[in-house]
Amino acid sequence: MRSKNLKFRLLIGVAIALFFVFKRCSQREENPYTGRMQTISMGADEEIAIGLQSAPQMAQQHGGLHPNTQYQALVDNVGNKLVNNSIARQTPYKYEFHLLADPNTINAFALPGGQIFITHALFSKLENEDQLAGVLGHEIGHVLGRHSAERIAESEYWQGLATAGSVGADMGGLVSGIGQNTLLTNGRDDELESDELGVKFMLKAGYNPREMIGVMEILKAAAGPNRVPEMQSTHPDPDNRIEKIEEAIEKYKIQ
Ligand SMILES: [Zn+2]
Repeated sequence: MRSKNLKFRLLIGVAIALFFVFKRCSQREENPYTGRMQTISMGADEEIAIGLQSAPQMAQQHGGLHPNTQYQALVDNVGNKLVNNSIARQTPYKYEFHLLADPNTINAFALPGGQIFITHALFSKLENEDQLAGVLGHEIGHVLGRHSAERIAESEYWQGLATAGSVGADMGGLVSGIGQNTLLTNGRDDELESDELGVKFMLKAGYNPREMIGVMEILKAAAGPNRVPEMQSTHPDPDNRIEKIEEAIEKYKIQ
């Protein structure tokens, strides 16, 4: 009687797992702007809505918008120049660039759909307009690469498998462990893809792509509690990143 019960549970577990595997297959799509296959469970309009909804809260967490309208205008100009001269212009996303007042946290980040932020702490460390283009280009890369939407779809998938595992054989913990690793690995790949896209956008807009390396040096030097959470947390080691940026410059400069 007990083994019959176990078999039944196992079957249900397998059925749930298969459901999520098939669901994931149906959610695989090629990103038309990067050419990369990814798992996506929401449309561009949903990404834009999520970004717009979370933007005020994100700004508030960093002391709100910076009051200097000249600085904000520079951020707008550089951001729009990158968008208007690249493939980013052809995407359905609504790009908006915000300079945040935060004087302590050296950070820049993007919400899905095109809301992009840079703190004044990072802004003030930049040495030239090209480096600002490097930071914003990297963030545009996260939007166009649909990294948040992909992360959401992947975590739905792993949560589904974890459910199947816990029903079938009490192995939910193991499966969700694998899931977390996968998410972190994606994070590193996201950063490298955004660096590469950033270099591409910089070249298209007439900026010096080598200044992306300058940005990396600034991030590397920003140690301690002011470390960059978005641009450094899940990152491959900085030297490896600089190497990849050099490769991207070689790859795109001749085009
Ligand atoms: Zn990033």
